[in-house]
Amino acid sequence: MEFETVIGLEIHAQLNTNTKIFCGCSTTFGAPPNSHTCPICLGMPGVLPVLNKQVVESAIKLGLATNCVINRFNQFARKNYFYPDLPKGYQTSQFDLPIVGEGDIEIEVDGQKKVIGITRIHMEEDAGKLIHDDVDPVSHVDLNRSGTPLLEIVSEPDMRSPEEAVAYLKKMHAIVRYLGICDGNMQEGSFRCDANISLRPVGQEELGTRTELKNMNSFRHVQHALEYEVRRQRDMLLEGETIVQETLLWDPDKRCSESMRSKEDAHDYRYFPCPDLVPVEISEEWIEEVRKNLPELPDEKKQRFETDYKLPEYDAVLLTADVAVANYFEEVVAEGVVAKKASNWIMTELLRELKGDDISSCKVAPLQLASLLTMVDKNTISGKIAKTVFGDMMESGKDPGQIVKEKNLLQVSDAGELMAIVTEIIEANPAQADDFRNGKTKIMGFFVGQLMQKTKGKANPKMANDLFVKALAN
Ligand code: ADP
Ligand code: MG
Ligand code: ZN
Repeated sequence: MEFETVIGLEIHAQLNTNTKIFCGCSTTFGAPPNSHTCPICLGMPGVLPVLNKQVVESAIKLGLATNCVINRFNQFARKNYFYPDLPKGYQTSQFDLPIVGEGDIEIEVDGQKKVIGITRIHMEEDAGKLIHDDVDPVSHVDLNRSGTPLLEIVSEPDMRSPEEAVAYLKKMHAIVRYLGICDGNMQEGSFRCDANISLRPVGQEELGTRTELKNMNSFRHVQHALEYEVRRQRDMLLEGETIVQETLLWDPDKRCSESMRSKEDAHDYRYFPCPDLVPVEISEEWIEEVRKNLPELPDEKKQRFETDYKLPEYDAVLLTADVAVANYFEEVVAEGVVAKKASNWIMTELLRELKGDDISSCKVAPLQLASLLTMVDKNTISGKIAKTVFGDMMESGKDPGQIVKEKNLLQVSDAGELMAIVTEIIEANPAQADDFRNGKTKIMGFFVGQLMQKTKGKANPKMANDLFVKALAN
């Protein structure tokens, strides 16, 4: 029996406002526990929340960027449940009248484009955090995060594989970063996702029973967790067992999921309109103002990189996945570096050396990379030496010119100086020299390699070849 995988994602994007959604407390990450709190975000009775305008604007931005309807009249609702990180006993969220309605974004997997529907995007507050003591049997409550603004982005169950789910997640991640509304830091939990997944026999219209994988904070975890869950559900269905609708927690170390609780339904939360907050009304003018000021988005930037810089699609996709990388690339090119050369270097050397770190933490400024690439272009240093120099730059942040001077790495382009070494190498390897003279021209690689070794990679490679040809002709 063949099954089809069905996946829908709920993404939580933490907004990068300076203050919380309903009070003036700071949203800075990593402060001492409970230092960024006030009666409102502590959930004291009798306080009145005041909505942060920037949260509304961020939601409008994201709604417009994802081709969604903006609901000019929307409303906050209380989602009632008890948990120690939620002193109010309810989360202020949106329910039947969310700020953003239906829309869609386009993803691409294996060269195949596909449109994924968005059901809704709503504003809500985050809860606090529980810290479970490793030694003593106690738990601590930190309410700094309580009241941090979130956008919850709910997709249609339109994805058919873990790959599609990850592509969708990456696209949404790129969009919130392009819009500048969320820092996208997955390790710190600023961008996290719950994945709903079910299987159904191929051809069946009705959706199968789903499970929900909670709070995954890396693309890799999402991929692994979904692959695991596809296998688990498939095995169960083949054994004739029924899938229980439940919430699962993914353990990235053990690479398996464990049950957290049976899945609750909306009616369990006793949603009702929040009486402390007036409904949100958004003017047409405000929406148009936001639309006018939307930045260039990933798809448009990718298109422009292909046309303006004549980059292959592969390069354009890679460079525009992260807006900071795209900006970095453009700054290097603005210094006069050939686009394809800048692209090659960023895609291979730079992204590899960054090892997944944010490019904003990179010690090499675009201007410095440009000057390194210019040195290669002008034959001041060889491409090989440039890689070593770049490694140094990544560690020290020094200018390439300074490193080249300090380490004496200037390329040797003095014909006389190189010829002396070339002659020496030919004399030391008479057999190979004869081979070459007898037509085995492939042996040239060996000779140039020897020269590079003797000059520690500093010989001008173009000259090296010519000099050997000349010397071997005798
Ligand atoms: P809840 O509010 O309980 O989280 P929703 O109905 O809002 O549930 O759906 C949450 C997410 O689950 C959405 O992204 C939706 O597309 C997805 N989803 C719903 N039913 C299924 C299913 N049978 N299989 C896979 N995904 C589903
Ligand atoms: Mg849910
Ligand atoms: Zn507060």
